[in-house]
Amino acid sequence: MTTMIRNDNQQPNVGMEGRRNPYDSAVEQFMQAADILGLDEGLRQVLSQPKRELIVHFPVRMDDNSMKVFTGFRVQHNVARGPAKGGIRYHQDVSLDEVKALAMWMSWKCAVVGIPYGGGKGGVIVDPKKLSITELERLTRRYATEISMLIGPYQDIPAPDVNTNSQTMAWIMDTFSQHHGYSIPGVVTGKPLSIGGSAGRNEATARGLLFVVREAVKHTGLSLSGARVAVQGFGNAGAIAARLLKQDGAIIVAVSDTQGGIYNKNGLDVASVLRWKEEHGTVKGFHDAEAISNEQLLEVDCDILVPAALENQITVSNADRIKAKIIGEAANGPTTPEADRILHAKGIIVLPDILANAGGVTVSYFEWVQDIQSYFWTEQEVNERLERVMVKSFNDVYKIAQDKNLDMRTAAYVLAVGRVAEATKLRGIYP
Ligand code: NAD
Repeated sequence: MTTMIRNDNQQPNVGMEGRRNPYDSAVEQFMQAADILGLDEGLRQVLSQPKRELIVHFPVRMDDNSMKVFTGFRVQHNVARGPAKGGIRYHQDVSLDEVKALAMWMSWKCAVVGIPYGGGKGGVIVDPKKLSITELERLTRRYATEISMLIGPYQDIPAPDVNTNSQTMAWIMDTFSQHHGYSIPGVVTGKPLSIGGSAGRNEATARGLLFVVREAVKHTGLSLSGARVAVQGFGNAGAIAARLLKQDGAIIVAVSDTQGGIYNKNGLDVASVLRWKEEHGTVKGFHDAEAISNEQLLEVDCDILVPAALENQITVSNADRIKAKIIGEAANGPTTPEADRILHAKGIIVLPDILANAGGVTVSYFEWVQDIQSYFWTEQEVNERLERVMVKSFNDVYKIAQDKNLDMRTAAYVLAVGRVAEATKLRGIYP
């Protein structure tokens, strides 16, 4: 049988076409903090770009025996505070600039919550829904091999992100371990429990969001009990956030995924929606709810809006119509800087991504610590430690916001960029 080479690398980065480049947003957010902190020009140059950017083009054998070439990235933004840490995304719209933005946000996120990591991120341009499970395994193992010059438990530690999960991490851990001849669980986090994963990791991003939302409502006169919540994106971050917020008494009025959204002003039964999604692959079509679009979801009448999908969802074109009083950014980069200014002027409290979704990386850090010690904690221990980190981080950011009269995002950036800048400066320039 002849081998066909199908090269997908020529695809333009259509996902960001006509939309704001997330890396531009990330640099703009950084520069604003740099101005407030009075960072010198040298540090601005160092911190406004990644330390390392790796682009890999690699072949994968498809089930029909053809060969297909994929493009992947691994970026390390800053490693002054510790090894690079950040997820791996599989999506047809992944681009180098998106991965660079996500890596930079990871540096700030780890710094906001005070965990000893730098920022990294990876991605492969692929629509994983179009691959079989065996193709996905071969793609993952080859991508892991291609980026193995950068990753390692003391260098750079990947984790799940959009369209990757604990199985993906198991394949990466196994591939890396095969290369070295012994098991190295600390090379990735978000692994299954049976191979060195941590109790509570799967829910950690959503649980961390819950902890900061609980703190935020205390300052708004709202109560989580009875608060109406809309969640965009019904994956690891969004679906679990909906479940946990409902457990705390919130009414989940709307949820959505790539195919569309559903709305019920009296509240959705999240467990039934989850079962529906498992059976049908989407929340769309769920009985006992009206169909709405993803655009409508962001604008529904609610108290708390949780974007938990992708970047650039809240922009100049819809920010003015958002009715929520609190936005808890489970997703990375869902709000553009222009939209941020509109939301701030409207008095909406935005719990920024680098704080609001930091629960995931915090429990990833706990997983790594447990792997290195080969000593595992109970779920209760993990959740209690997570709560301490999230509540302290919220209050650290809130205090800066109050003292300096800043919005929560800018305050979080001032805290995070200050910490990364200090570490970078203290370590100095070699040689
Ligand atoms: P996931 O793949 O588990 O889920 C993503 C969900 O978003 C899916 O339900 C998908 O259908 C939906 N979606 C995608 N595009 C959409 C769109 N345009 N409109 C509406 N829904 C859409 O991914 P995840 O891990 O939950 O990640 C979601 C976001 O949370 C990402 O921004 C990610 O970077 C961020 N995040 C995830 C973690 C984590 O631990 N998984 C940690 C921090 C931040």
